[in-house]
Amino acid sequence: MFCFQCQEAARNKGCTVRGVCGKTGDVANLQDLLVYLLKGISIYAEKAKELGVVDRETGAFITRALFTTITNVNFDNKRFEEIIKEAFEVRDRIKNKFLKAYREKNGEEFDEKLPGMATWYSNDVSDFYAKGEEVGVLSTGDEDVRALRELLTYGLKGIAAYAEHAYILEEEDQEIYSFLQEGLVATTDNTLSADELTALVMKCGEVAVKTMALLDQANTSNYGHPEPTQVNLGVRNRPGILVSGHDLKDLEELLEQTEGKGVDVYTHGEMLPANAYPAFKKYDHFVGNYGNAWWQQKEEFEKFNGPILMTTNCLVPPKDSYRDRVYTTNVVGFSGVKHIRDRKPGEQKDFSPVIEHALKCDPPEELENGMIPVGFAHNAVMSVADKVVEAVKQGKIKRFVVMAGCDGRHRSRDYYTNVARNLPEDAVILTAGCAKYRYNKLNLGDIDGIPRILDAGQCNDSYSLVVIAQKLAEVFGVDDINELPISYDIAWYEQKAVAVLLALLYLGVKGIRLGPSLPAFLSPNVVKVLVDKFDIKPIGEVEEDVKAIMAGE
Ligand code: SF4
Repeated sequence: MFCFQCQEAARNKGCTVRGVCGKTGDVANLQDLLVYLLKGISIYAEKAKELGVVDRETGAFITRALFTTITNVNFDNKRFEEIIKEAFEVRDRIKNKFLKAYREKNGEEFDEKLPGMATWYSNDVSDFYAKGEEVGVLSTGDEDVRALRELLTYGLKGIAAYAEHAYILEEEDQEIYSFLQEGLVATTDNTLSADELTALVMKCGEVAVKTMALLDQANTSNYGHPEPTQVNLGVRNRPGILVSGHDLKDLEELLEQTEGKGVDVYTHGEMLPANAYPAFKKYDHFVGNYGNAWWQQKEEFEKFNGPILMTTNCLVPPKDSYRDRVYTTNVVGFSGVKHIRDRKPGEQKDFSPVIEHALKCDPPEELENGMIPVGFAHNAVMSVADKVVEAVKQGKIKRFVVMAGCDGRHRSRDYYTNVARNLPEDAVILTAGCAKYRYNKLNLGDIDGIPRILDAGQCNDSYSLVVIAQKLAEVFGVDDINELPISYDIAWYEQKAVAVLLALLYLGVKGIRLGPSLPAFLSPNVVKVLVDKFDIKPIGEVEEDVKAIMAGE
């Protein structure tokens, strides 16, 4: 195996024996084979598109399959074997559609030679493992081309995750599917120049914005606009179910199915922002948030006592002490962990095994108590825009600092806690994603009633931060958002953060600080391009960075 797609890649170079995340070499190889086959499917899909044949189901399959390969989503080699078999079927289907269209248009058979990802097949699963080893990221020899291809691929994975969430809420956009295919094909094309690949990376940022907007529309049209809300951190004296991940549809159905059953529901990690949606706030048994970011789950899940539902990443390989209480659903998987099946058309998912399990469990052990504010997505912030603008004009707010992104295990992430602590009292933090857990309980106070930490929501709600920045630019009459008093100090971990980063670059944001380390998959030359073009910089020492941030540097 060789994997360097996340911030925790071993020695910031790559995991080669077993992932720091817990991914085995076998699973890594199967993921590589799956991505390889998705490229083959995309080759046919793009050819079919040129002939006017667009296959929605192919796009939906690529989306879901790419999501499965994101860090901490799925560790189950049996699930990957099944998805790979399905990939052969999907490839055959789109291939046949293309061949038929070609025949009809040209009056002859298509006889061009296509690369291995479009043709390789085996019905022996043991071949999958060896083939995966052969077609991984190191199969691209040139380190700059490899860096650009992987930057694009990881951006596509992030887009796929957001597109899949939107799809579950019945929002789709063929243009997003089409770009996933175009991008995957580009990573197979040896004739593309570095400039052409870079242009596609920028387009990836554009499509990431579009996808986050689509998901925002899906979330808010189904569940209302998030409202400023104080979220309870304590526990009640009844059995509970802990819901983690990003899937709001799962939470909706679980809340409905648990109503009146004597079971409470709590959020964990990236599900925290769900507490701000009007559609969920109405449930009395929706208690609040339990614990912190994903990487602390081993201790926190143990103490929760009840079942845990993982709707998406980040899953950490569960300890034996609570493994039987973990349930996965959607694209999440772990060998030996119970899985809640997808909903059948027109029906809800059946969460009864989770509910019955909860009823046999003790209530959660209290970790902390108190409240934290959430729900400052674009609608809520814009509703107090006058107040915000006034505070800026009066000099009460000197700077906004976007500290969105992910949290992770590395001790170096204390940097973000210390930046938050050391920012002067006239700075407001705009956050989204689980990076917030490094500072959202610091009680940084408010400025004329505007909390100094405005939490827009999940990582995809970084879109909200973009909308807020664009609105502020409008209000202050500046053409370039870099002229606003906003700095960016972003923490990344997995591939959705790559999509968010590319979205910011596409929008022209300059001078982003990125940490806690720069991506292992970027070559020195590609880093240089990012530095020259966008003034991206690594994080430094807290004191100097805070000074520079406040000076707009
Ligand atoms: Fe290593 Fe990250 Fe890949 Fe896991 S996802 S194998 S931690 S680089």
